[in-house]
Amino acid sequence: MHKILTIGEILVEIIATEKGDGFRKATPLIGPFPSGAPAIFIDQAGKLGQPCAIISRVGGDDFGTVNLERLKGDGVDISGIEVDPLATTGSAFVRYRPDGSRAFVFNIRDSACGKITLDERMTRLVGECSHVHVMGSSLYAPSVVESILAAIGIVKAGGGTVSFDPNLRPEILKSPGMREALLTVLAETDLFLPSGDELFLFTEAKTESQAVAELLASGIKAVVVKRGAAGASYFDAGAALSLPGFPVEEIDPTGAGDCFGATFVSFWLNGASPREALEFAAASGARAVMHFGPMEGASTRAELERFISEQQAGLIMQENHLIDIARWSERPGPRGIPSICSAHPLVIEAAMLRAHREKAPVLIEATCNQVNQDGGYTGMTPEDFTRFVGAIADRIEFPREKILLGGDHLGPNPWKHLPADEAMAKAEAMITAYAKAGFTKLHLDTSMGCAGEPTALPDATTAARAARLAAVAEDAVGGRGGVLPVYIIGTEVPIPGGALEELDTLEVTAPEAAIETVRVHRAAFEEAGAAGAFSRVVGAVVQPGVEFGNENVIAYDRARAEKLSATLGQLHGMVFEAHSTDYQTPDALRELVADGFAILKVGPGLTFALREALYGLDQIAAFLFPAARERTLAEVTEAVMREEPANWAKYYHGSAEEQRLQRHFSYSDRIRYYWPHPKAAAAVDELMSLLDGVAIPETLISQFLAGSYARVRNGEVAPQAKPLALAAVDAVLQDYFAACRV
Ligand code: ATP
Ligand code: MG
Repeated sequence: MHKILTIGEILVEIIATEKGDGFRKATPLIGPFPSGAPAIFIDQAGKLGQPCAIISRVGGDDFGTVNLERLKGDGVDISGIEVDPLATTGSAFVRYRPDGSRAFVFNIRDSACGKITLDERMTRLVGECSHVHVMGSSLYAPSVVESILAAIGIVKAGGGTVSFDPNLRPEILKSPGMREALLTVLAETDLFLPSGDELFLFTEAKTESQAVAELLASGIKAVVVKRGAAGASYFDAGAALSLPGFPVEEIDPTGAGDCFGATFVSFWLNGASPREALEFAAASGARAVMHFGPMEGASTRAELERFISEQQAGLIMQENHLIDIARWSERPGPRGIPSICSAHPLVIEAAMLRAHREKAPVLIEATCNQVNQDGGYTGMTPEDFTRFVGAIADRIEFPREKILLGGDHLGPNPWKHLPADEAMAKAEAMITAYAKAGFTKLHLDTSMGCAGEPTALPDATTAARAARLAAVAEDAVGGRGGVLPVYIIGTEVPIPGGALEELDTLEVTAPEAAIETVRVHRAAFEEAGAAGAFSRVVGAVVQPGVEFGNENVIAYDRARAEKLSATLGQLHGMVFEAHSTDYQTPDALRELVADGFAILKVGPGLTFALREALYGLDQIAAFLFPAARERTLAEVTEAVMREEPANWAKYYHGSAEEQRLQRHFSYSDRIRYYWPHPKAAAAVDELMSLLDGVAIPETLISQFLAGSYARVRNGEVAPQAKPLALAAVDAVLQDYFAACRV
């Protein structure tokens, strides 16, 4: 069995969480991540089960320990890493520029690994190895260059081989003696792994094939050119072949070349064909970029095999955007995502416009009663809903691939008056329709009893039904281009559509209950042969203690949710989803996300803001054009709601006067069900046409749409009807997106 050796820098990497140019201003950072090109390389080799070692030095500090533990844990022989208690472990501060390039501040030469010498013990370790891999980045100091050249000498004398990745960064190329050192290593190289233009560093050639020919003629046995997302090519005296990159979402490019190299070298040494080595290496590089952090994307052989076979089956053309939501807090960018639960076209448009400004995807959700295979109360099937949302996106040129669709409370709820078997058959048809229509976030809600059953079912029954629906959804997806769905489980929420009662306080989900829900579901999924689907259960719906009644909001109290929040530590790969977060203050929303309630559902709060804007415009129109309309918008909605009380009568109580107030101004916002009503829609149309093209006086905006006044004054929002309606919704959305950025 071959043993691979590398010699060079071990560092921690500390990464700026916001893009920008360099480090001249205070900026938030995340780290330490174990790193250093040779360390990443050897960690990947170790993960593949390949015997391997690294010669390096770290300080007697936590940064050293982070690296030692990771490398050892992944199977690397760390006996060649000397711990110098008087030195400091190397570090690299990294910041991504908006164009994707990186700015570094390195501390390598003056760190523990600034000096590496081969004493007797190290020389013995070199003697155990049959292959040396050199990273160009490791030629940063004379003692290291000397050690590398000595190791090459020993290994070659024993009949071993050398691979070389120039891995050049502009910051390093300036080092004195660098070019000479690179040339010396190149002369000993059997396998050369340049990326892009590095191929031309050591030749006069103008074309790739000339450069490759020249390198092969100089005694190099094989050349592998890395081309980032475009893939890689292999050349030797008798063969040339290229493979495209696997189509994946790039989260963080760091480490791709190192993981690719380690995988290629391991397979090459062990006699794999160039094609097989290239394919596994490309898979390793692709998986590396899908993970944030330099070494975090290293793969085991089993992971690579699974990745390749899934890719071949065409199942995962694209990772589900939400697949790693539990790890968003460890990387730059948002930590959570607002879930927009509304079918109102203006709300959806406002959400897309906001997402566009945030450079974020938009998550739009429909619920089981609203949209289902029979039409639901909106009359839309899941496919109709997809088309409806897509059409809004097309109109405002929002990219469709940035739309995430979610299905909420998917289960027997709309048919619970039927016996369980019939209701579940309907639920299966529903989830199939959702999955086929491209909904990739599916909330399985099977907790309610059907005809002849208790109102709330035992956990095991709920979980078994959820697993059954997941298995059906899995079957419904697939085919090339498909994105496998993520699932949400649990239901610590009132029935879809809002609470029936006036609320004062609320039970926060008990920590044990959250853990038990997940445990029971895991078991049920395994039982149902849907363990694969369970690996994509990314969230559980719990009650953090937020809700709203007709005229009051129960505010988030993080102290009450502390224990629940802490259970996330035990629920690996999962976040909490909070329902009914509408009307929470910006601070409360921020706290919710920080406490792990990463999916914030909001619906009525958005249509409430829209209704406020419409009513404001209604008053403005009444003032500007007193004779133009027979009835105001508010008069029309009042009439419509009284004619057809079904959507509010059960929910609004008290005297006639109190009920009238609630019809228009309740936080429950049952009026939202009436906007699609032909009479209400006509009244809105009439209002909007009346104000179409009218520059509304600022002073009227101050009076009737005070929330948007400042944004009109500073030129952000045009003083016109539609922009003002969108701005009102946007004001709420802004709080949500800001909360997710904590
Ligand atoms: P670095 O030094 O930044 O780690 P590199 O320049 O040495 O990287 P790359 O060409 O970026 O190496 O990546 C190596 C291989 O990993 C590529 O040849 C490709 O197979 C795979 N890879 C890299 N980026 C992507 C990507 N965005 N999508 C798919 N595969 C990728
Ligand atoms: Mg590289």
